Amino acid sequence: MIMDCIFCKIGKGEISSDVVYEDTGVKVFKDTHPKAPVHFLVIPKEHIQSIAYLKENHSDIISKMIYRAKEAAEKLGLNGYKLVFNVGRDGGQVVDHLHLHLLGGWVGGEYLNI
Ligand code: AMP
Ligand code: ZN
Repeated sequence: MIMDCIFCKIGKGEISSDVVYEDTGVKVFKDTHPKAPVHFLVIPKEHIQSIAYLKENHSDIISKMIYRAKEAAEKLGLNGYKLVFNVGRDGGQVVDHLHLHLLGGWVGGEYLNI
C-alpha cells in the first residue's frame, strides 16, 4: 500500500468504484473516463508500479488479472475486446499502479485500431 496511490485506495475500498469482480488479490471496476463503450480496469491489490516494475514472482498475479478480465468480459457480454497495459508516461500511463484496461462494446468494427 502506497499512501497516496488512488488504485491502492480503490483496492482497499477506501475510494468507491463500480466493481464487477473482486477477490483477495484483484479487483475489476469501471473506468470513470471510458475510452470505449465498455471500459473496465483490472488491478492487483498489491502495489506494483507498472509492467516495467514486474518481478519474476509476479507472474501468478498477472495471469490472474488476465483471467479475471476474460471472466468480466464474458459477464459483460462482450464478444470481442482489447486488453491493454500502458507502461510509463511515454506509453500513456497516468496512474502509477499496475492496471489492465478491458476495452470493448464497439459495434460494426468501429473499434479503436492500434
Ligand atoms: P492509464 O492512462 O493507463 O494510467 O489509465 C488510468 C485510467 O484510470 C484512466 O483511463 C482513467 O480514466 C482511470 N481512472 C482514474 N481515476 C479513476 C477512478 N477513481 N476510478 C476509476 N477509474 C479511474
Ligand atoms: Zn498502488
